Amino acid sequence: MKFVDEFREPGVIGKASEEIRRLADPKRHYRFMEVCGGHTHAIYRFGLKDLLPSNIELVHGPGCPVCVLPMGRIDDGLSMAQDPNVIFTAFGDMMRVPGANGSPLEHKARGMDVRIIYSPSDALKLAQKNPDKHVMFFAIGFETTAPSTALTLIRAKELGLSNFSVFSNHVTIIPAIRAILDSPDMRIDAFIGPGHVSTVIGCRPYEWIAKNEGKPIVVSGFEPVDVLQSIVMLLQQLQAGEAKVENQYKRVVPWEGSRPALRAMAEVFELRPYFEWRGMGFISQSALSIRDSYAQWDAEKRFQVPGVRVTDPKAAQCGEVLKGVLKPVQCKLFGKECTPERPVGALMVSSEGSCAAYFNYEHRKAAVLTSIGAAV
Ligand code: SF4
Repeated sequence: MKFVDEFREPGVIGKASEEIRRLADPKRHYRFMEVCGGHTHAIYRFGLKDLLPSNIELVHGPGCPVCVLPMGRIDDGLSMAQDPNVIFTAFGDMMRVPGANGSPLEHKARGMDVRIIYSPSDALKLAQKNPDKHVMFFAIGFETTAPSTALTLIRAKELGLSNFSVFSNHVTIIPAIRAILDSPDMRIDAFIGPGHVSTVIGCRPYEWIAKNEGKPIVVSGFEPVDVLQSIVMLLQQLQAGEAKVENQYKRVVPWEGSRPALRAMAEVFELRPYFEWRGMGFISQSALSIRDSYAQWDAEKRFQVPGVRVTDPKAAQCGEVLKGVLKPVQCKLFGKECTPERPVGALMVSSEGSCAAYFNYEHRKAAVLTSIGAAV
């Protein structure tokens, strides 16, 4: 298959769904975690949950980088931009994420110089165009986006650009999966592996999940046929009593990952001993800080960072939803105090957040069906 339409072809989707029903043991309950927020979005957007038998439960994982960032890091980033000479730059999905004193967009409304950018190199160009200002890039993301931040820092160094820095909030996926597997309240049978991250890290880093934990993992694409085929592959492994890493997304993910991207990351970043994840606490070696050789472009070294820890509002259950312990709709605030228009937690902001995906597709669909008197 070559074109997106072919991965959305109803006949193929129907066959994959039938195959899932044939393979799933009706006496068994399956819990499959989709690690990546992109999969969560696809599952709700395309209504894939409705194509599965009721004994296959899809559990949403911690693969939305905006969602796992604790509120204190947003406040830390914004505190640096209190200086009127600093321009705060970030991707669009960061803009409405609430900090303790409001989101970046709310700070912009109060007069802070906050700009949306589409790639880190946009921030670099902004710094070149504004030599009398300091441009700080609020970097966020898993290994998917870390290489572009690394390449931008390498370029900044080559140019000797002194009015540019990066506040690194890059995180790494493997320690998060390990933390989930170590969590006593978690029971996962198999993983739908992240497609975007794996384009960079490849499939090898997941081998311990199969070997040591006995859990199958299939790295998956994001179209309906991709996700359903990955579930077929997981069921085939479970039926055969196997646990291995498979790559369903071969058209994009090389088994060994991307060497140039990994090289750029190794040049610029090193692992932090500990980093706090929203709802999951401190996880060792789970995030990237900027090496001393790039200290001049490290916002954490150039500015005073308060490092204040801010807890989520008491009633917000973002942590439990992030770990897959609760479904979005089980949070007391879902659809009431917390909506995409007025988000309380980051999971309701990002398009990859499970609460936003659930609200925008499942919740709205249920509301429409109810309004026309159909059974939900
Ligand atoms: S509904 Fe809002 S508060 Fe509740 S888990 Fe989702 S984002 Fe967090």
